[in-house]
Amino acid sequence: MNILVTNDDGIHAEGLLALKSALERSGKVYVVAPDRPRSACGHSITLHKPLRADEVRLRDGSTAYASNGTPSDCVSLALLGLIEEPIDLVVAGINRGPNLGWDLTYSGTVSAAMEGAIMGVQSFAISVTADRTDVDYTPTASFAAWLAALLQEQRLPADTLLNVNVPALPIDQIKGVRITRQGQRRYTGNVVKRLDPSGRAYYWLGGDTVVDKLDEGTDVKAIADGYISVSPIHLDLTDYNTLREMFSWGIQNFDVRNLG
Ligand code: MN
Repeated sequence: MNILVTNDDGIHAEGLLALKSALERSGKVYVVAPDRPRSACGHSITLHKPLRADEVRLRDGSTAYASNGTPSDCVSLALLGLIEEPIDLVVAGINRGPNLGWDLTYSGTVSAAMEGAIMGVQSFAISVTADRTDVDYTPTASFAAWLAALLQEQRLPADTLLNVNVPALPIDQIKGVRITRQGQRRYTGNVVKRLDPSGRAYYWLGGDTVVDKLDEGTDVKAIADGYISVSPIHLDLTDYNTLREMFSWGIQNFDVRNLG
């Protein structure tokens, strides 16, 4: 099995190397990752400047590609020919910090796995839910290796990826694995306004306080309970309940002769 590894924490992130080492038990691992931290870049892509992919040496002595592009760019570059071997699995991570609930909308890690799914390759994103610099990646890396092996037998349907979060707990405190749906997590948004030395205003987007809605069956609840969370995520963002309801609103009866 040929595995592409990328991330949004950058090519030299410890989580990337931990993931690569663990996945080498399952196959040949290729690394194409952003040359700098790109967390919360979402699914942005680079269209208006040249993309680079420079060979770099990782701390294990292996060769990888560092790109000035986003995580999504890295997946596109790799699958469109930078890696000459056909890729069977895309794994993004290990992200340092959770990707739960509404985080998925902002996450470069999850977007990289989405790009893999868009390109028809089985993909998952994996995160450890603490952003301490001394976080232990071992349990998360081991689970990634196990899941990668499983995905050789159980194939994900088209347009579907997995989003995995592993609680940042000692191994003997991780209670098990739950299959979950995307829950609700938001940050109490605030803006801090300051003045620069020339008296011009600048702003910091805050949002440190996390508000989780701890509904049963969700990713946020599984992590709160000490479980590994595995969510199937679909690329189709349509809300089918609302779609059905909207037929009674009469939108489709709009008379296009009124467009003038
Ligand atoms: Mn990140």
